[in-house]
Amino acid sequence: MLSEAVKNLVPYTAGEQPQDRSYIKLNTNENPYPPPESIKKLLGSLDTERLKFYPDPLCSRLREKLGSLHGLPPERVFVSNGSDEVLSFCFYAFFDRNRGSVLFPAVTYSFYPVYCSFYNLPYIPALLNPDFSVSIDRFLQEAANSSGLIFPNPNAPTGILLEPDKIESLLSRFPQDKAVIIDEAYIDFGGKSALPLLDRFPNLVIVRTFSKGMSLAGLRIGYALGSKEAVNALFTVKDSFNSYPLDYISQEIACHACDQAEYFRKMNAEVANTRTIFTENLVKTGWQVLPSQANFVFARKPGISGRDLYLKLKERGILVRHFNKETIDQFVRITIGTPADMDIFLHTVSRFLN
Ligand code: PMP
Repeated sequence: MLSEAVKNLVPYTAGEQPQDRSYIKLNTNENPYPPPESIKKLLGSLDTERLKFYPDPLCSRLREKLGSLHGLPPERVFVSNGSDEVLSFCFYAFFDRNRGSVLFPAVTYSFYPVYCSFYNLPYIPALLNPDFSVSIDRFLQEAANSSGLIFPNPNAPTGILLEPDKIESLLSRFPQDKAVIIDEAYIDFGGKSALPLLDRFPNLVIVRTFSKGMSLAGLRIGYALGSKEAVNALFTVKDSFNSYPLDYISQEIACHACDQAEYFRKMNAEVANTRTIFTENLVKTGWQVLPSQANFVFARKPGISGRDLYLKLKERGILVRHFNKETIDQFVRITIGTPADMDIFLHTVSRFLN
């Protein structure tokens, strides 16, 4: 009964969302702060009669709002059900095996190889520099063998940012007929966006999410910014899959959230501040912490394996993410929670490490 394709498919493993007990959840990079209170009022005021109709398949009002937030016309904005879905559409729209492999960093978001297997695309994992930063030289060396490039900025799970001048240098040397997709899921925590480069490089596509910097992971909204041609291609993919990936209620909440930029700016500055203090505390107690511009840190404690750290923390009610992958298996990825969450983390590890 099963297709050959599904028999061979190895799906992405999302971070645990256990329901057995309550944990301090520092494993899936959600924002520790709630979305604006005003969403409650908005929900109460929604016209439920509208639910009998299909929602706007073009998400026109939301694309208009996002466009004005980023200084782009709505024709250059695509929205869909979480940035994972947007990324998946990008793989289908911009990469193909006849032109080469998909290029991405060897240590990166582990969904990328899953999309490659889903769409039957070969890929090239480009080695990182010894300090775990992504290497634009490696990307350029492999550019000719690729059908395009994708990387998160800041990278996940390292949290390391590629600075805009390096991105500019990469884009100006990368073949202009191949897409460069920058996944800016974690850009709202201090990193600089590649947005100002969009007009100069029509092959650049930026993917964003409401899940991290807008504290709306439960809503499932992601979007892409690019040329009109790129956005049209994403619509073609979406319309061959699902005409209405974003329901009426999500579109309304997302439009409202676009008007709350100041609330999110303050909230994310808090997260970045907690990250700085938490990192200092880890370093003081002998941890190695990669320099993060995201809402998580990637860290290791010499003398204990990443897996043991993960297990000991879990036993004590704290969830972090461990990746069972050579070169990074000594590390754990720790989401930045509230200052109280991070104090509990530090207190807990100090007890079992001593
Ligand atoms: N990109 C990266 C790098 C991520 O870590 C995540 C979250 N797992 C996503 C995209 C997807 O986020 P969402 O689907 O919630 O928008």
